Amino acid sequence: MEIQNNFSLKNYNTFGIEAKAKQFVAIHSNQELKTVLEQHLTDKKFILGGGSNMLLTKDIDALVIHVDTKGRKIIEENVDFVWVESQAGENWHEFVLWTINQNFGGLENMSLIPGNVGTTPVQNIGAYGTEIKDTFVSCQAMNIATQEMRTFTKDECHFGYRESVFKNEIKDQYIITTVVFKLSKRNHKINTSYGDITAELEKNHITTPSLIDVSNAVIAIRKSKLPDPKELGNSGSFFKNPILLKTDFEKIHLKFPEMKYYEISSTEIKVPAGWLIEQAGFKGKRFGDAGIHKNQALVLVNYGNATGQEILNVSRDIQETVFKTFGIHIEAEVNII
Ligand SMILES: Cc1cc2nc3c(=O)[nH]c(=O)nc-3n(C[C@H](O)[C@H](O)[C@H](O)COP(=O)(O)OP(=O)(O)OC[C@H]3O[C@@H](n4cnc5c(N)ncnc54)[C@H](O)[C@@H]3O)c2cc1C
Repeated sequence: MEIQNNFSLKNYNTFGIEAKAKQFVAIHSNQELKTVLEQHLTDKKFILGGGSNMLLTKDIDALVIHVDTKGRKIIEENVDFVWVESQAGENWHEFVLWTINQNFGGLENMSLIPGNVGTTPVQNIGAYGTEIKDTFVSCQAMNIATQEMRTFTKDECHFGYRESVFKNEIKDQYIITTVVFKLSKRNHKINTSYGDITAELEKNHITTPSLIDVSNAVIAIRKSKLPDPKELGNSGSFFKNPILLKTDFEKIHLKFPEMKYYEISSTEIKVPAGWLIEQAGFKGKRFGDAGIHKNQALVLVNYGNATGQEILNVSRDIQETVFKTFGIHIEAEVNII
């Protein structure tokens, strides 16, 4: 366990932004994590997983702790279900493929989401009609100040749309070390209703899809829609889809009848932020090396040497224009550092 000074984070964030960490350490076990925290009680700390959900707008004046713990195992099973536990530093997509290879169902719709398993509860990741809260059982986390371990049940995580207790009430207080999921062993709930999954399966003449079929369909769709961060720096969806009260939405909808929307409850409507940004004229626009992806207006990109501040400025410009145009505030999903 080596602490490095003035460490470049360019290869540790999927935007590919150049920013320096005052200090950087990769930890490979809970014991190492405890030791580092004990030795740096009064230093500022910053927790880094796969760096796929952050925009670094400045150097990090803190000890950056990169969670790199590995390991996954079955901790319990019965005829119908299996409980699997993964260390926080495992790559999410590799973990998903590992579960599918054993015919464990529940995570297949979230194939190919970048980042680490330990970060998935932080924003309750989701895609194609599934969120991790649907299979999440609990996670363990270390208190940064006291180094005590605590188990968080699903209820205690206060999961919402791209939200959890870790982003709100106890932000920056805990480091998630392991996560447990409950997955199906048979009678899988195959969910192909969302997005283009059905069309993708039909294209391949698949009528009764298996877990791997769904995963492959999701992977193919994502690859066709989203830029690969290895080729074009980005952090996935930069903004959340705004949720409006139905009464407010109805007034806006009268002015913009072509506006796309989804009813999510009897009182709430979700509007696709990508549509708002596209209508506001930003899709495919480029400002120096910062820009908006040509196929997906929700994704801001780094064409090479953009600074985090430049990307942040573009995001603010988008927010202001969308607000002026539609009267709707769109909030960043990405963590702005
Ligand atoms: C191309 C692309 C597509 C994406 N698609 C999706 C999608 O479909 N759905 C979706 O939900 N997200 C998506 N994302 C966002 C991202 O992949 C997820 O949010 C992912 O869970 C972030 O994981 P990470 O390990 O990279 O987190 P990081 O970016 O390293 O960290 C994110 C936040 O969590 C904190 N954190 C990191 N590790 C821990 C820990 N162990 N304990 C406590 N806090 C921690 C960090 O301090 C930071 O505030 C996408 C990103 C990209 C680049």
